[in-house]
Amino acid sequence: MALASHPALSAEDRPATTPSVMPEPPIRPVELKPEPPPMPATAPALPDAPTPPERPAELTPATPTAPEPGPASEMPVPPPRPTDLSPSPPTTPALALTVTPADDTACRKRLERLGATFEPLPPISNGQCGAEKPLKLSRLSGGVVLNPAATLVCGTAEALARWTTEAQETAEQVLKAPIKSLSIGSTYECRGQNHDPDAKLSEHSFANGVDVMGFGFDGHGPIQIGAGLDGAPEATFQAAVRAKACLFFRTVLGPGSDAAHGNHLHLDERERNAGHRLCQ
Ligand SMILES: [Zn+2]
Repeated sequence: MALASHPALSAEDRPATTPSVMPEPPIRPVELKPEPPPMPATAPALPDAPTPPERPAELTPATPTAPEPGPASEMPVPPPRPTDLSPSPPTTPALALTVTPADDTACRKRLERLGATFEPLPPISNGQCGAEKPLKLSRLSGGVVLNPAATLVCGTAEALARWTTEAQETAEQVLKAPIKSLSIGSTYECRGQNHDPDAKLSEHSFANGVDVMGFGFDGHGPIQIGAGLDGAPEATFQAAVRAKACLFFRTVLGPGSDAAHGNHLHLDERERNAGHRLCQ
């Protein structure tokens, strides 16, 4: 019966009638205030009550009539509080779980529209490395094969697809030959930058970076990324596609950037402050 539960609640409140012993009366005035900062401070002060953080959310909108904390602090008012506590517990856990994983549904649709062939992979979790929703990207628009298939998160796969479309135009203009394959180096790999175990984790550690080693063509010999003959069409092609990569990736490194990138283009989507890019 409901009556049975009420006496139990009131019994717990009775020992609390001594205002000095109970921490709850001082808490209420703090919650009544509209300020968000005082709320977290109250949570640690209430080790006995399991639901202090939740109550403020309901109390603040419901009790605009009592703006003054003075009288409330003096008044213990045990009966109203138990009623508020009972409904509040269910609402709080829901609020606490509002952290949602990145939704890449729209990205995957765009990737499909770009003509890419891919399939979802299970989540990767390896210490600090990992990716929630990696994809296995095997083919891009125009029948461009990734050799081997790349393990990338959707945003990076999309950037690669868009960049390759641009590179395709360059190939047909400069080389008169369409790209048929991308030679792929590292995609997902749990390691530090430049394979230095003491360095900051590479974007490869989050399936957020891809190393393009070279290109294969229909009607033209393969091109490996590296120092080429200045003025040769192959060098022009490399320079052009590298410049275009900066439109799609936040980080572009290659020959001349440093010793670690002499034979490939490193492309990634590392987030930087104020949207800064690293295009070298
Ligand atoms: Zn790389």
